[in-house]
Amino acid sequence: MTGLRQSWVESANDPETDFPLNNLPYGVFSTDGKGPRCGVAIGDMILDVAGLEAEGILSAGDPPVFSEPSWNAFMELGPEGWAGFRGALTALLAEGSSLRKRVEPFLVPMEDARMHMPMAVAEYTDFYAGKNHAMNIGIILRGPENALPPNWLHIPIGYNGRASSVVVSGTDVRRPWGQLKGPDMEAPVFAPCKRFDLELEMGAIVGVPSNGPVTVQEADDMIFGYVLLNDWSARDIQGWEYQPLGPFQAKATATSISPWIVTKAALEPFRASTPEREKELLPHLVEPGPMIYDIDLMVTLAPEGKTPTVIAETNYNRMYYSAAQQLAHHTTSGCPMRVGDLLGSGTISGPVKSERGSLMELSWAGKEPLELDSGETRSFLEDGDTLTLLGAAKGNGYRIGFGACSGTVLPALDDPYAR
Ligand code: CA
Repeated sequence: MTGLRQSWVESANDPETDFPLNNLPYGVFSTDGKGPRCGVAIGDMILDVAGLEAEGILSAGDPPVFSEPSWNAFMELGPEGWAGFRGALTALLAEGSSLRKRVEPFLVPMEDARMHMPMAVAEYTDFYAGKNHAMNIGIILRGPENALPPNWLHIPIGYNGRASSVVVSGTDVRRPWGQLKGPDMEAPVFAPCKRFDLELEMGAIVGVPSNGPVTVQEADDMIFGYVLLNDWSARDIQGWEYQPLGPFQAKATATSISPWIVTKAALEPFRASTPEREKELLPHLVEPGPMIYDIDLMVTLAPEGKTPTVIAETNYNRMYYSAAQQLAHHTTSGCPMRVGDLLGSGTISGPVKSERGSLMELSWAGKEPLELDSGETRSFLEDGDTLTLLGAAKGNGYRIGFGACSGTVLPALDDPYAR
């Protein structure tokens, strides 16, 4: 495994930074007086690549791709274009670069920047591909005998979500209203969600389009990069609506993503294998090599005005299915995939309680409220709570970090139908 690559941007050589020269993740930022534009994180700075392109100092090819505040045009260049640009960017920021003097004016302190969506999400699909999570939810809802649905060990179960509700970290999330009906209620009511929850996930971003079925290897080659993803979930709305077609409004309020797209290239040294198969997969879903990643993940919860408590710590390599398998499965019907498609991994939970990636599991549907460091307890999210997802692949003397994926729960509005 390679070590830390030295950069002339000094803060990038700190072994604790999320953004060393080995990482170079892609985002969209704005500053006072200048609107959203493409940037690359390096140490505690952002490199304004839109500015560099406009000045003719750095280019990803012709025509220019950074004039729009999104990485979609760059993704359209495909894997060869991605690799060429990453090589040029690495040389530009490496120790001893002859272009340092010309590049330095295009560095913006991260603390002076505001982050935006790094791309236009084409479509959003969410999966249910973590076995520990599926087992926990199955036991809570159906009991230990039928915890896993019969198809679960054969296909990565998914549903089509809404691209329109994907938001960048730092966006507040309003508690939704919906139809709720508990087992001891006679009739449903329309009310604010009482069981608002998080789901700790990774998001995979498709960078190459397809039109027809692809293999798992082709799917892996189509993936551009990864983000942290919190799939906000209204458990009580879901409990009433999801039969028989799965979640709908319960998952449509918001899905938060971290602002930096960490490229597959940066994660390459951290490839890992998914767990051993419990049932042999059909050939079209078999992985030809390691396609999950060793990425440590953490969730913190901070009540309003209080310090955060770590409520879960796990690893992306707990997933039973990789994003490449999910993407291959997604195309089996001939479903075309587009540049900018976002695939949610499904909730990531490990085998022990401290690794559970949702409050539904952590509080066992409210039966075992969680104790926070502030002395408060939580079964589900309360108004004012701030959730933060963090993640990093840890190398020898460096880390490939994702930055934070945060959101604060705002109280429900007054009855939206009261006129
Ligand atoms: Ca989910």
